[in-house]
Amino acid sequence: MVEKFDYLIVGAGFTGSVLAERLNSIGKKVLLVDKRNHIGGNCYDYFDKYGVLTHKYGPHYFRTKFQKVWDYLSQFTEWIPYEARIKSSINNELYPIPINRNTLNLFFNINLETEEQVREFLDSKKENIQNPKNAEEQVLANAGREIYNAFFKNYTIKQWQTDPKNLDASITSRISIRTNDDDRLFDYNLQAMPKEGYFKIFKNMLKNIKILLNTDFKNIKNFVEYDKLIFTGPIDSFFDYKFGKLPYRSLKFIRENYNKEFFQPTAQINYPNEFEYTRIVEIKHATKQKCFNTTIVKEFPSQQGDPFYPILNNKNQELYLKYKQEADKLDNIYFIGRLAQYKYLDMDQVINGALELFEKIKTK
Ligand code: FAD
Ligand code: UDP
Repeated sequence: MVEKFDYLIVGAGFTGSVLAERLNSIGKKVLLVDKRNHIGGNCYDYFDKYGVLTHKYGPHYFRTKFQKVWDYLSQFTEWIPYEARIKSSINNELYPIPINRNTLNLFFNINLETEEQVREFLDSKKENIQNPKNAEEQVLANAGREIYNAFFKNYTIKQWQTDPKNLDASITSRISIRTNDDDRLFDYNLQAMPKEGYFKIFKNMLKNIKILLNTDFKNIKNFVEYDKLIFTGPIDSFFDYKFGKLPYRSLKFIRENYNKEFFQPTAQINYPNEFEYTRIVEIKHATKQKCFNTTIVKEFPSQQGDPFYPILNNKNQELYLKYKQEADKLDNIYFIGRLAQYKYLDMDQVINGALELFEKIKTK
């Protein structure tokens, strides 16, 4: 007899894995599939051939404002304290980024001492833009053109291969402009790294779940019996791109290993103005692995490759909404996650979204 599942879940990233774990916990029969050869989605990490724990798809620093998400994930991992602090390299000088008081003092060679002085200084630099409409205006309105040109303009062009005017303001507003000297990437209370890495979290979450790897949904959809579907892949792919392709941005990663304890002073250094890569990541600073060698990863933005980033602007949002309207017509199929919602969501946001969806569907 053919096995029948209550839920087929496509994608074993955080969205699919949280839903699989939750639904399984209330006795639903779940099949989780992923076309990659591993669970974990873009959060997957592994020990490379040099024995260094590395993040396969870019650095993943965990942070959240949701106590609920923290408590949920803490069932599957212990944590090590870590608050990401990164730098931007401009003319061979390293500056704290997000922009803070120290960044301004170093960059403009001044000596602002109080938050009030920083506010006044920023006011003198800001352009008079009331409601920033795009990624360029967002920085000009909050920090002015010199900061924009040095720290944001070329990084954004490199990362997205388009003028920042063509991108949503929410993209650059991910990077704060601060009046204090807080140099953490995020000012959230809850920040840490999983003690044994992300893959271990997924292993723990999914230990009772039936999983098929190397399995593309489109190749099995007619052969698996299921009542409901949760789809966490790109929404346009589900509909065979019938309205056209939604643009996503990808990255190529070049890895290098060095026989020394550390390569650079911090986990991430951004290079807005030189090189083809946007940043060099040395995740060992965050994982706190004890080993004599280190692996670094250079990130080269690319049009080819896995869909990592939805490219947020009005035109793409309109196209997404066409797909969403189609999706809303379907019963018993849920589209959720960074790719299925075409949103620039962080880990804690997708986990929160998955927990919320679970609350809605658990009695169905
Ligand atoms: P994904 O992790 O993308 O998982 C979707 C899965 O679906 C994939 O494994 C894919 O193979 C599978 N799939 C797609 N289509 C099919 C199909 N047809 N059949 C079968 N399987 C399919 N967030 C943070 O909180 N902190 C960070 O520091 C951070 N850094 C990041 C750095 C980079 C470079 C990137 C790209 C993202 C970063 N994020 C970070 C965001 C984080 O990766 C996402 O929030 C999270 O991975 C989204 O989970 P998801 O399950 O929705 O999607
Ligand atoms: N950004 C920038 N300079 C930087 C860091 C970020 O211009 O030094 C802009 C850029 O457009 C980037 C966006 O801010 O794509 C969001 O940055 P974040 O570091 O959050 O990107 P992610 O880690 O998601 O790739």
